[in-house]
Amino acid sequence: MRNDDCIFCKIIAGEIPSRTIYEDNDFKVILDASPASKGHALILPKDHCANIYEINEELLAKAAKLAKKLTIHMTEQLHCDGFNIVQNNGELAGQTVFHFHIHLIPRYHGMKNNDILCWTHEDFSAEAQDQICQKLRYS
Ligand code: 5GP
Ligand code: ZN
Repeated sequence: MRNDDCIFCKIIAGEIPSRTIYEDNDFKVILDASPASKGHALILPKDHCANIYEINEELLAKAAKLAKKLTIHMTEQLHCDGFNIVQNNGELAGQTVFHFHIHLIPRYHGMKNNDILCWTHEDFSAEAQDQICQKLRYS
């Protein structure tokens, strides 16, 4: 399904040009217009869904398989030295386009932006960590 206000839906429909590196029935994979590194690409499901909460599990599983295949392919082609797979949900988490997407970001020794995904650690007491662990235990 398409969302008429969504820039990625327009890209998928071919109404806005993009550099496509892969396409099948479910996905279009394009180069990011403001790349963090050489080859930075975005996996876009063709059906509009805003985020991880909305995407159906089957499609998400296909996206994960595609991310793996493209990571291998891109690493072979680009000879990158590391690889980030990033997926943002919500404004606070850095999402700016509200159509689910997976960033494929090759990393290179000595290039800009190598610290882009770094964070400093927060301090939590052992008790607080125990409580969080208890709360998050999932089966
Ligand atoms: P987010 O911040 O939502 O995780 O990532 C959105 C990404 O989409 C950004 O990296 C941004 O550069 C990219 N982007 C936004 N608009 C366009 C566009 O029109 N074309 C392409 N190829 N990428 C876009
Ligand atoms: Zn969309």
